[in-house]
Amino acid sequence: MSRPTDIRISVSESRGPHLGRVVRDTDENGVEFEYETVGLATKCPACGKVPMKGSLITKIFDTWWHGKCGAKYLREVGADQAWIALGMQLERNPNRFTHAEIKAIVRNLLKISQAMALIGDDPEEADDEIDVGLRRLLDGA
Ligand SMILES: [Zn+2]
Repeated sequence: MSRPTDIRISVSESRGPHLGRVVRDTDENGVEFEYETVGLATKCPACGKVPMKGSLITKIFDTWWHGKCGAKYLREVGADQAWIALGMQLERNPNRFTHAEIKAIVRNLLKISQAMALIGDDPEEADDEIDVGLRRLLDGA
């Protein structure tokens, strides 16, 4: 099993924090008013800083991290979690990975799903040909 650290993570360039903007609207009496939206600034979960415009960022489990912070996190987190995170990146941006990387990611995700199937096996039915957990996966349950 190759290590997740051998795989490049998918990175993008941050567009920087979203600033608040002024919105003009009219109320029910036709009176114009304006308000300012609150800006969005997502902090990197590792260092707590907001990625600035142009910094390399990576999306892991639906959160944007600095590229380096995300890579460090994936090196330290359990191998299974890292492979699942890489699988999510692969699903989002398949063209950012080489064929060798795609094969390694899919191979390891299959190993993880097989392990899950074994855990889900029903010990009461020892003669069962197909793992209960695997059947659940195949049934989409
Ligand atoms: Zn960071």
